Amino acid sequence: LKSRLSDASLLKTDSYVDGRWVSGETAFAVTNPADRQQIAEVADVGETGARKAVAAAHEAFAKWKRTSVFERARLVMAWHDLIMEHVGDLGTIITAEMGKPLKEARGEVAYGAGFVKVSAEEATRLHGETLPVQFPGARGWTIRQPVGVVACITPWNFPSAMITRKCAPALAAGCTMVVKPAPETPLSALALAELADRAGIPRGVFNVICGDAEAIGPVLTRSPEVAMVGFTGSTSVGKLLMRQAADGVKRVSLELGGNAPFIVMDDADVEKAAEGVLASKFRAGGQTCVSANRIIAQDSIADDLIEALKAKIEKVKVGSGFESDTDIGPLIHDEAVGRVHKLVEHAREKGARIVTGGRPLDDELGGSFYAPTLIAGGNFDLDIARNEIFGPVASVYRAGDEKEILRVANDTPYGLAAYVYTRDIGRVHRISEGLDYGMVGVNAPMVGSPSTPFGGVKESGIGREGGKWGVEEFTELKFVLLGGV
Ligand code: ADP
Repeated sequence: LKSRLSDASLLKTDSYVDGRWVSGETAFAVTNPADRQQIAEVADVGETGARKAVAAAHEAFAKWKRTSVFERARLVMAWHDLIMEHVGDLGTIITAEMGKPLKEARGEVAYGAGFVKVSAEEATRLHGETLPVQFPGARGWTIRQPVGVVACITPWNFPSAMITRKCAPALAAGCTMVVKPAPETPLSALALAELADRAGIPRGVFNVICGDAEAIGPVLTRSPEVAMVGFTGSTSVGKLLMRQAADGVKRVSLELGGNAPFIVMDDADVEKAAEGVLASKFRAGGQTCVSANRIIAQDSIADDLIEALKAKIEKVKVGSGFESDTDIGPLIHDEAVGRVHKLVEHAREKGARIVTGGRPLDDELGGSFYAPTLIAGGNFDLDIARNEIFGPVASVYRAGDEKEILRVANDTPYGLAAYVYTRDIGRVHRISEGLDYGMVGVNAPMVGSPSTPFGGVKESGIGREGGKWGVEEFTELKFVLLGGV
């Protein structure tokens, strides 16, 4: 990996605590899922490292919260500029540890940097209000203040953007941070720490610690010095962290799993809808929480959609993310391949038709690969319809009228992203309003921008990231009443 980087000093294997690089007593391996080769050994700083990071963030908060928001925004913007200056290397690190194609990896870095820029800008626009009050001779107003020390636990599917999306708004708002990245992808997080250091973000303000989640997690969720826990990952771990944080009544911001319906109505442009499914379904190999999970087609166009999808999916090229013609890379590890294949096999056993794909490619390609797959004829009770697939498997279901479509689309505990393709303006409004989801893409396969609110309802999470909402999330609203005026 080092030889692929133009700035090899971005490759860090120690944790970043209180402005210094610290090692641990043990270490864990990071491997490239495309060939299963070890690319680094990263220090595990464990519970002790977590305690030190929390203490450092707590100490740094006293000064950081009083630093002018313009100065904080300037430092956050300097971080943004360095991230963009190193977009190539940061992309290479993502591809090496996570597997997505290089072009997509660089896109992720730029997308993640967008949150850094927008957060720096939005923080300078936060403001309070003066309010009417019921007491004579009194005045009332609100101020927005940083929440305090924020602990973040992040996943491997967006090793860079999930860090910047949480940290930039928190830092700009005046919070200090302790981040624990996923064990599969710590190198992207550590490279971002190195760039934060170069940007001049003061010591203790931004800390990145790697190591055993079960040892570090409780320190982050239970320390009295931590005011808020931010998490992106599985719903089960999100619930566990929420339970742990409940004892201290800490604020939580959770981006959890999804089960996105991708609805194609009979008046839609089927070709465009098929292109949309590919974009939504196969980005990051289908390993995103907003990936189309259930493609729901109205009866009369379902066969056309399946045909269009088959033609496109058969052209998808699977391979190492470092090869320029690769469309999708490996899954994150062999366990993920096994899990995806089990869902596909269950659908097959229950009578669904595997139109194309449907098998692991690990023997052929020497890594954690799965064939791009299309399934038709399944019903909504299948495991593959009820669970988040997190792999390159598109499954098409049939439904009748608008009412039925909304019913099946909402029949899940999740509520993150939903998509609908239609050219009827009435349907656009009725369906987007009727979907119990935090985000709806209409004739659009992707919903996230740095300037717009990202987040879910129901068991998909709490809170919003992005834009002014992402910054407000890391602030408390205080009311001040002045009497005797
Ligand atoms: P996935 O199954 O896709 O890896 P997880 O929700 O398990 O998703 O992981 C997301 C993040 O949560 C990772 O950083 C992981 O280390 C962390 N994590 C997993 N289990 C725990 C736990 N018990 N306590 C704290 N963090 C955890």
